[in-house]
Amino acid sequence: MRSLKILVLFCVLSSTAASLHASMRAAAGKVDITPNLATEKTYLAGYGFMGRTPVGVHDPLYARILVLSDKKETLAIVGLDLIGFFRNQVEDLRKISGFDRPGRYLFVASTHDHSGPDTLGLWGPWPGVSGVNSQYLQRIEKSVSEKIKELSQNLKPVRLSGITKELAPNGLCRDSRDPVVIDPYFSVIHVQDRAGKTVANLIHWPCHAEVLNHANKFLTADFPGVLCNRVEQKSGGACVFINGPIGGLLTPEEIKGKDGSWEENERIGKAVADFALQNLPKALPISSSKISVSSQTLFIPVQNSRYLLFLYSLVFGHKLFLKDGTPLKESPYWIALKHAFHLLKPEESPWIKSEVSLIRIGPLTILGIPGEIFPELVIGGYHGRYRFGHPLIKPNNPNPPDLSKAPKGPYLWDEMPGKIKIVAGLANDELGYMVPGYDFKATQDLIMEPRPKGDHYEETNSVGPAITDIVLKAAKSLLKNK
Ligand SMILES: [Zn+2]
Repeated sequence: MRSLKILVLFCVLSSTAASLHASMRAAAGKVDITPNLATEKTYLAGYGFMGRTPVGVHDPLYARILVLSDKKETLAIVGLDLIGFFRNQVEDLRKISGFDRPGRYLFVASTHDHSGPDTLGLWGPWPGVSGVNSQYLQRIEKSVSEKIKELSQNLKPVRLSGITKELAPNGLCRDSRDPVVIDPYFSVIHVQDRAGKTVANLIHWPCHAEVLNHANKFLTADFPGVLCNRVEQKSGGACVFINGPIGGLLTPEEIKGKDGSWEENERIGKAVADFALQNLPKALPISSSKISVSSQTLFIPVQNSRYLLFLYSLVFGHKLFLKDGTPLKESPYWIALKHAFHLLKPEESPWIKSEVSLIRIGPLTILGIPGEIFPELVIGGYHGRYRFGHPLIKPNNPNPPDLSKAPKGPYLWDEMPGKIKIVAGLANDELGYMVPGYDFKATQDLIMEPRPKGDHYEETNSVGPAITDIVLKAAKSLLKNK
């Protein structure tokens, strides 16, 4: 009798485990989003107002997509080989993909490719003129949404595993702004079908995708392209690359004399790919089959004087609101003109909406930040924990940050649950840098020039000082209610 009970119990447990296992399903793939240079007028993004037009395609740009589904929630994660993708475009993509309803969540993160097309309206033929080709944008939104729909209809049972490890950044990525805090946290999520065949690898590593510099005239996906191609070749499936906390400013560490070269691009992309491949056998099983997603809408004042002057660009990607949340009816050109004649008072600033998101699957936590947050706001490191042999403050820094005023922990990273953690940058929006308040020092005159001495470039590409605390508060509240 006892052995019969044990047998029945064993059968119940094993069938439960099998059904739990079977309830996580996935599909992954990629779609080419390279502009057609013969028919689509294109300006290269990145590196100030350069009016750069591409002369050819070095390697294709892709949208790489992983769709995961439990019984209740379907999550599509999209990595775009683009400089950024504004909230309006993310919302469009959600709508046309059928991901604008409960039980479906579309998470879009750009790799921050500095040699892709202008998708933000900041790099046209001359300052103040957008370089966005809206027909191109519509075309890629359509093809990405079609791919998402196709994948969503072809899900198969999978098992997930993943690992977060420190990748020593020396020779790969450096921090250009003091204090030196280089986020070394690398993660790979491995998705396999029942037969053990790779469906996808989701790879997260924080660094600006700008190995190729302003002298480059070819469209390229920069190092994430090399990285993903190699992982796809060696492991199979699709490789989705997600960038991280890259503000303040994490940029490739290149060999002197070879910087900006294709050779360096290959070296860095391959090194990170090989680190991923080496760590695949060490990945921990993610046995949970429950996907939980939460997000919070943010309401943010546009304080940056330059952003107000070029408000048309922000309006391309965001709706404007008054402080009380009602839609702003004034033309952005009129607001910009008013601002050009007399700087807008703080209470006259328009407001925009964005979002912070949290995804959890067992020991895996993904926190989505809508821009380029400084790594020290995520992992700390004001005492040198993440300087990796570099001086914490450059000896010749004419205006060093006052670290006694730096925020104390616990930091976001400390509050994130699970053993596998990803802080995704440029997630569902690109609002520029999120600068720690104690070191936000840019002047607020019309073009924010002259800048204070030292490292204060990032303030000029930030919505303003208020965004940092708004994002941190929302992220912490999502983590608290996890
Ligand atoms: Zn950037």
